Amino acid sequence: MINSKLITYNQSEHGISTDEISPSARAIITKLLDHNYQAYIVGGAVRDLLLGIHPKDFDIATNATPDEIKAIFNRDCRIIGRRFRLAHVYHNREMYEVATFRGIDATSERVIKRGHIIKDNVFGNIDQDAMRRDFTCNALYFDIENANILDYCDGVDDIRGQKLKFIGDDSQRIIEDPIRMIRAIRFQVKLGMKISTSMKQAIFEQHHTLANVSLARLFDELVKLFHCGNAFGAYGLMNEMLLFQHIFPQACLEINNDSQYIKFVHNALKSTDSRIEASQSVTPIFLFACFLWPLAVIKTNKFLTKGMPQYDATNKAANEIFELSRKNLTIPKIVQIGIRNIWLLQFRFTKIRSKKVFFTLEHQRFRAAYDFLLLRKHESSEMQSLGDWWTHIQTLTKTKQRELIFQKKHKNKR
Ligand code: ATP
Ligand code: MG
Repeated sequence: MINSKLITYNQSEHGISTDEISPSARAIITKLLDHNYQAYIVGGAVRDLLLGIHPKDFDIATNATPDEIKAIFNRDCRIIGRRFRLAHVYHNREMYEVATFRGIDATSERVIKRGHIIKDNVFGNIDQDAMRRDFTCNALYFDIENANILDYCDGVDDIRGQKLKFIGDDSQRIIEDPIRMIRAIRFQVKLGMKISTSMKQAIFEQHHTLANVSLARLFDELVKLFHCGNAFGAYGLMNEMLLFQHIFPQACLEINNDSQYIKFVHNALKSTDSRIEASQSVTPIFLFACFLWPLAVIKTNKFLTKGMPQYDATNKAANEIFELSRKNLTIPKIVQIGIRNIWLLQFRFTKIRSKKVFFTLEHQRFRAAYDFLLLRKHESSEMQSLGDWWTHIQTLTKTKQRELIFQKKHKNKR
């Protein structure tokens, strides 16, 4: 651990106005201050404001314990978490995370196994709290009373220099909580904060420690990463540092075996980035269906050669893939159902000469499956025509759609 050395920046030095902070967050802090506790805006929000980005949420840090916070906010407060107890405080129907300063003493409230933090409920003071945070740029505290930024780890300098640095030793901080490797990649690709060569090396060496994190938490972090607006950049770094290989070992082999699939995955990532740029909705179902698709094709073909019908073969391939993936990642059931439907719809898309077309068009996952189909257009001229056919039919009225389907049938009969 490095020693903390407080630097205070006043408003003329940091340039952030208190008005940029959500009024509800300010109201919660004011109430804590009125009860003689310390309370600050902390972490990502301060970092983002310094970078000129509108923060997506405002987290609060205080010396009040979760029970003390509960006593102040009563019914507007819920205590959550076991590994890391903190308070959710509601104000104007918005939820704010209020976390008690973490300390550094090793007691029964912090459980560490092989260097990995299992439980962390040791409370402490602000400078200890700063040391417990992940990166220097995330250990900044905004004091709304004086509009000062309190910087214990040279975070402001690192933000100005766009340097992403762990607080303390790279490897140790990764082993304590390996999810920080995924967070590091997100902050680099989303905020342009550069990971140093030594941190890159440490991630590369410790990538296998990802096996120690909760697999559900890993899924949530991956969704945040791939929906941060630069999924393409994130994928590149995840590969470079062997993290993608760790999470999807078999799928990764199949992708990298075939330049068509590499292109397919790259296009899927770019399409996700463009949708986010255009403020369109995104779902993890789509990207995960793309990542696992090359494996799905291999497995489906295996069952087809055994004489299984296409629908059953795809379904059985999906079962095997979800079973395999469970070791490295928890893909929620609802996401699995969505992925399976996207794959099954790829087969349904080939049925363009029957009433089934109407069921396909009305399927709940039609949109995502159609976007997926368009990504496959590069596979062959048949796929190109199929994609064009499904694009065209959506532009027609019901009557014209019927004409197209049955005309085609007629033609084929001749
Ligand atoms: P964003 O909100 O854009 O995801 P953030 O930095 O605010 O970024 P949060 O997950 O909201 O991320 O976490 C809030 C703060 O809590 C962080 O800024 C950091 O100080 C601390 N923190 C979060 N996760 C960890 C971790 N795994 N290890 C140490 N500190 C963490
Ligand atoms: Mg945050």
